[in-house]
Amino acid sequence: MLIYDLTLDELVSFLNEHEFKNYRANQIWHWLYKQKAKTFDEMENLPNDLIKILKENFKIEALELVVQHTSVDGTLKCLFSLHDGHLIESVLMKQHYGNSICVTTQVGCNIGCSFCASGVLAKKRDLTSGEIIAQVIETERLLGERINYIVVMGIGEPFDNYENLKHFLLTVNDPKGLEIGARHITVSTSGIVPKIKEYADFGIQVNLAVSLHAPNNKIRSGLMKINQAYPVEEVLDAIRYYIKKTKRRVTIEYILIDGVNDMVEVAGELAQKLRGLNVYVNLIPYNEVIEAPYKRSKYEAQLAFYDVLKKHNIQVTLRKEQGHDINAACGQLRSQHL
Ligand code: SAH
Ligand code: SF4
Repeated sequence: MLIYDLTLDELVSFLNEHEFKNYRANQIWHWLYKQKAKTFDEMENLPNDLIKILKENFKIEALELVVQHTSVDGTLKCLFSLHDGHLIESVLMKQHYGNSICVTTQVGCNIGCSFCASGVLAKKRDLTSGEIIAQVIETERLLGERINYIVVMGIGEPFDNYENLKHFLLTVNDPKGLEIGARHITVSTSGIVPKIKEYADFGIQVNLAVSLHAPNNKIRSGLMKINQAYPVEEVLDAIRYYIKKTKRRVTIEYILIDGVNDMVEVAGELAQKLRGLNVYVNLIPYNEVIEAPYKRSKYEAQLAFYDVLKKHNIQVTLRKEQGHDINAACGQLRSQHL
């Protein structure tokens, strides 16, 4: 088991079972999350018998770097190998407001969106919470700087790995853990309705992003087969519930695909569906992938779509892409190494 898989309470119980005092858990967490120790031997204020027991029971190395690419805009894309040989990726984006990492939550994804490189691969397994945490720690080491923001938008559907996701969020947010503010963390979902509601009741102020990509079931079902289980109306209802419970604004992700969901009439329909909701729309020009037949929207279409939303007083941004020259769309680096 990875040492990062343990909550502080679980670590305390483990230590107590082995007749060590509670404060040792704080020392270990300090080494793990503040010092980013790579080995148990570095934990110099621990007694040798404790280091021995830790080594016998836990692993600390979670990821092996296979390849890293740095883009001209400073985006760093890392392909990591897990202990069982599965490949995952994390992307570090340098923003004017700080360093933001995009982490992976599953090996592959079962949601199977038709435009997504990850969706083409069936899910092999969930990542443990420790394996998600390790992406942040390992990337901080490679970068030599602190990471200030986390987006859970890499390969996988985080709400299909909900328990490990929650555990991850609690550890990265914990002042004794990585201490990244909840408001600096965003989880993106394809729209698993019951989990959006559960997440609304979770209690920490983490942001929610929902991949809508279409205002109606006809277009959305063609892009996302999950829409058959959770159609647009139910997703919007879940978002309404989330906003009511948390009083927080939700991000609507909308990739712009040429001739599929980028027409001005579609923008009008989207504006109408979102009217009165505390949301902001993040328009993302589609990143073409070899696994899917779709094309990116023409620039004029992107602007026209943006203008319609603006005219309807919907808060909207048109994303300036990052890392395009190094294939920063989710799953792309990994798919090239299979
Ligand atoms: N499974 C979650 C989170 C991971 S995907 C979700 O779907 O929300 C993160 C975001 O990347 C989603 O909005 C997804 O639709 C988008 N995405 C996937 N493939 C893409 C591509 N080729 N170009 C642009 N965005 C893509
Ligand atoms: Fe899975 Fe998200 Fe890709 Fe859809 S877009 S296949 S939910 S990772």
